[in-house]
Amino acid sequence: MPSEFELIRKYFERAPREVRPVDRRTRRVALGIGDDAALLRPSAGMELAVSTDLLLEGTHFRAGADARKLGHKALAVNLSDMAAMGAAPRWATLALALPAANEAWLEGFARGFFALAERFGVELIGGDTTRGPLSLCITILGEVPRSLALFRAGAQPGDDIWVSGELGGAALALEQPGNAALAKRLDEPEPRVELGERLRGLASAAIDVSDGFAQDLGHILERSGVGAAVDYAALPRPGEVGGIADGNRQARLVLSGGDDYELVFTAPPARRSELAVLSAELKLPLARVGAIQGSEAKLQVLDGKGKPMQVGRGYDHFAP
Ligand code: ADP
Ligand code: MG
Repeated sequence: MPSEFELIRKYFERAPREVRPVDRRTRRVALGIGDDAALLRPSAGMELAVSTDLLLEGTHFRAGADARKLGHKALAVNLSDMAAMGAAPRWATLALALPAANEAWLEGFARGFFALAERFGVELIGGDTTRGPLSLCITILGEVPRSLALFRAGAQPGDDIWVSGELGGAALALEQPGNAALAKRLDEPEPRVELGERLRGLASAAIDVSDGFAQDLGHILERSGVGAAVDYAALPRPGEVGGIADGNRQARLVLSGGDDYELVFTAPPARRSELAVLSAELKLPLARVGAIQGSEAKLQVLDGKGKPMQVGRGYDHFAP
């Protein structure tokens, strides 16, 4: 049975070995895994963006979930928070509770985690490993040029409301576990990191969709002290969702389905052409779905005939 320290060395102490000695001076990490704390070297003129997400078996993923996909998702949801702030992800810590030293599980988890970490240039710099009911807590740190971070609080009356990608696919995957294309949206979401960075100085407010479009846009409205009118028909959705005949069910998935990790953001109408160019460049659809209006944090979703629709709430861990 490997010790806790052998497991950490074998599965998580990875990046430092791949660094050539000549790169040491320019590295963003002065000291990584192996001491009592990591030492980071933030760049001059940058602010640090820090965010934590906790994933629990039974609450955020089902028992027996594929370890590689969990490694991907645990990091992806944190990367998505960096994207929503307009920050470039740099470093992560990983606190892990495991029922047993299951090496096949650790191998799969590390594979999923590092595949995504390497794509986005994120270095694992520390963490904690303990025995207990399976849970994963990642803290991510990123950099954003001073005063260019994107906030929930910046939306202004008259701004357009935009959504990246498509909504409702991850929530439908929960209802149709056999559909592989949908399952990928739920298990292996693609964090919109590049979009987030490119929205600096362009978007007036941003948030990522973890709990559902209506709820997450609602956070922008509350923080910004504004209202919104959204055109339901303009909300982008995958074909599998758009084809659902039961209109209420479809609306629930699109408006209140969580876990899509798309970005919802606002921008002045004068920026429309820049956003069209950006969308083409990133090969990522950006849909204009409504407008910010008024000073009351009220969300109106209008159907095809311009009539207000009933909007359910998104996911709330403490809902009765
Ligand atoms: P401490 O006793 O100070 O908590 P540990 O013995 O728990 O230190 O950890 C040893 C080193 O391994 C530390 O640098 C810690 O950050 C790192 N570490 C522990 N668990 C993990 C993990 N799951 N992922 C990455 N690094 C880890
Ligand atoms: Mg420890």
